[in-house]
Amino acid sequence: MSSQPLTDQPITDVPASAALLARASAVIPGGVNSPVRAFRAVGGTPRFMAAGSGPWLTDADGNRYVDLICSWGPMILGHAHPDVLAAVNEAAARGFSFGTPSENEVALAEEIVARVEPVDQVRLVNSGTEATMSAIRLARGFTGRDVIVKFAGCYHGHVDALLASAGSGVATFALPDSAGVPRSSAGETIVLPYNDLAAVEAAFAERGHEIAAVITEAAPGNMGVVPPAPGFTEGLRRVTAAHGALLISDEVMTGFRCSRSGFYGLEGPYAGGAPDLFTFGKVMGGGFPTAAFGGRADVMAMLAPEGPVYQAGTLSGNPVASAAGLATLRGCTDEVYTRLDVVAHTIADAASAELTAASVPHTVQWAGSMFSVFFRDRPVTDYDGARDQDTDAFRRFFHSMLAQGVHLPPSAFESWFVSASHDDAAVEHVLAALPAAARAAASRD
Ligand SMILES: *Cc1c(COP(=O)(O)O)cnc(C)c1O
Repeated sequence: MSSQPLTDQPITDVPASAALLARASAVIPGGVNSPVRAFRAVGGTPRFMAAGSGPWLTDADGNRYVDLICSWGPMILGHAHPDVLAAVNEAAARGFSFGTPSENEVALAEEIVARVEPVDQVRLVNSGTEATMSAIRLARGFTGRDVIVKFAGCYHGHVDALLASAGSGVATFALPDSAGVPRSSAGETIVLPYNDLAAVEAAFAERGHEIAAVITEAAPGNMGVVPPAPGFTEGLRRVTAAHGALLISDEVMTGFRCSRSGFYGLEGPYAGGAPDLFTFGKVMGGGFPTAAFGGRADVMAMLAPEGPVYQAGTLSGNPVASAAGLATLRGCTDEVYTRLDVVAHTIADAASAELTAASVPHTVQWAGSMFSVFFRDRPVTDYDGARDQDTDAFRRFFHSMLAQGVHLPPSAFESWFVSASHDDAAVEHVLAALPAAARAAASRD
């Protein structure tokens, strides 16, 4: 590779991040505000970031990294994109929050409805967790039933009823569940293996009249990327419709990332009809805390103040966050999606080639430009498969990449994310780091 290393020395010493972690740990449990950030799965000191620009992050010690987390998806245009920054500045100059309706939230809702054909209406919220929590309440209110079906390894935020066998941080820590979730709440959740339509049919045959909804990640990214098998989503639509249950497609991660209309844009429309409800987050906030749930008009009409299902938020539809989200979505042109595909495939192909050269068993899986590298030699179709991989090999690979200035997600159970700002220099820097990382993965220390 022709690329210049960013630093002559590998990044090993991070005293400023270590000092911040010590300070943080005194006042924040584990020193972090979201568990995966703590590096518990990979060990070492999490990097406290001071700045981001395009594809680059700069930590508190001044080290630079090519960012392959992209805030877990939102930074699809890169950090501090000038158009988004201008929109945020312009909105902020006119006030931060009114507690009344304002135009930006209308424009953001219009943009989402225009992009995702089955979505007639959306309600804006502040996080993906709120979106799924509200969507299941709405499904329960609409159907008058209580039971929710979810799939093992799918993560839908830290909602009580949806934490059973969740992926993401819960997978990282190999927790079967979370403490503090009432038995009564977990008892209303049926957890099934992903991609197993026969299990769904059996569950509906037994308890179909009690089931309010099936919630699924449109393409799971929180146990690593595990796309739906051909016909699986359509099968969910068929079974739920036959039993009067709703289908909720969680596109918090895939929405507006896998295509301009999310994973639905790649897989839909479905012969048996669209999901009834969708949830969105991440990209649609452009790095700010805004998210949404939406879908069929007759279902959405059940929401207060139109209907009896209560849902609210002091900062929901925040004008600054809405401006950031709208500028981000408007920036997501066809060229952007083309660039994401090129960057993702260039990096994934090179990673695979280097791992092969180093004799490291691995499988790369895709959903649009989201991909992950599983450290095992067979495809992964469900959560059991995702857990059956060499997480030690991942750990060694991760740390080699980090020392060379490439920041991967600090867990083997996550997607890698790229942005349209990943230019040739950033990609070359990643490619240059891969051979040594592959050798590290192969080594036993
Ligand atoms: C990230 C994520 C959530 C939760 O979103 P937060 O904004 O972190 O609460 C829900 N569902 C999916 C599929 C996600 O990837």
